[in-house]
Amino acid sequence: MRVKSEDEEKFMNKKIAVLAGDGIGPEIVPAAVAVLEAVGKRGGHAFEFVHAAVGGQAIDDTGWPLPDDTLQLAKTSDAVLLGAVGGPKWEGLDYERRPERALLGLREQLGLFANLRPAKLYSELADASTLKREVIEGIDVLVVRELTGGIYFGKPKGVEATPTGHRGFNTEVYTTEEITRIAKIAFDVARKRRRLVTSVDKANVLESSELWRKVVIEVHKDYQDVELRHMYVDNCAMQLIRNPGQFDVILTTNLFGDILSDEAAMLTGSIGMLPSASVGASVGMYEPIHGSAPDIAGKDAANPIGMIASGAMMLRYSFGMSEEADLIENAIQAVLGQGCRTGDIAAPGTTLVGTKEMSDRILQSIG
Ligand code: NAD
Repeated sequence: MRVKSEDEEKFMNKKIAVLAGDGIGPEIVPAAVAVLEAVGKRGGHAFEFVHAAVGGQAIDDTGWPLPDDTLQLAKTSDAVLLGAVGGPKWEGLDYERRPERALLGLREQLGLFANLRPAKLYSELADASTLKREVIEGIDVLVVRELTGGIYFGKPKGVEATPTGHRGFNTEVYTTEEITRIAKIAFDVARKRRRLVTSVDKANVLESSELWRKVVIEVHKDYQDVELRHMYVDNCAMQLIRNPGQFDVILTTNLFGDILSDEAAMLTGSIGMLPSASVGASVGMYEPIHGSAPDIAGKDAANPIGMIASGAMMLRYSFGMSEEADLIENAIQAVLGQGCRTGDIAAPGTTLVGTKEMSDRILQSIG
């Protein structure tokens, strides 16, 4: 995916595939759609939302978690907005027919090789973090994780018998092309942020990391307006806890990114707050980091903020609409500032609200 520049923004027509999915998905997705509609109108853009079934809902309708119609819609849209999939009802199905297979299918078919996970702390929630306020105040980190290569996919892999037991093995492998394309994504998104990329590797031990570092340095030659730093993964894991404010964009491999993005996310407190983006070829997919939360589904108890913030990421990274994305993020901040909290982020002295009211207030705050 090419991240769009501000100049290309102006007035746009965009088709958005809306896949609400299961559990709390159908409760939080309409909130994000309403917010996108409102900011679109304000900016003079025309967004067309086309809904389709995915996950358990699609299994009930068609027998498959990712029906052809849904996949075709995703491929022919400008971006995909996804709620969540899965739930106890479908847990007994064969692996191939499980709701979660839809996510893998979409990633594969849309060529989504980069996962962007921001960990931004809204200062109103600083006390919900396990770290001290002075350490986490103001953090705004974006982890750019390579999603389709590295040790999770490298070959050879397997478990084989030995004379004394077994031997399990996997292969960490990256090519120049894979590193180049993910590095470009990281530098492009850094240009929309504070222009600092920290590339995280283990180049002191791993040959694949040595290549990673070499290629990232090469790609950086075309991005001299962005600062590049390198850090070993063990140090990065420590620095995220010690001084997370030093990071803007963290660029890393599939394995390291899997771990570091969870670590970064937890700095900010609730799982209900965080959005994510998967990007690659031309169509990006935007979804909250949480699942379908069947335990609270249908109870008007879900926090819609991660979902709404996923819409903001869509505007920023797929459509190049930074101002509109800021509008959404500022509206979220404003409503938190009013003391409104869903159950997952409630604290003494704040007002407990449901999904619907939280969504309405954010919408009103956009005006
Ligand atoms: P989960 O993220 O759905 O829920 C974990 C806990 O966090 C639950 O207590 C839940 O109530 C809470 N929670 C999650 N989102 C919340 C929100 N927006 N507001 C308030 N509280 C929230 O994870 P799980 O329970 O392990 O998985 C439930 C189902 O979701 C499973 O079927 C799983 O496979 C699926 N899942 C889907 C995705 C996805 O669609 N991307 C991701 C993870 C899990």
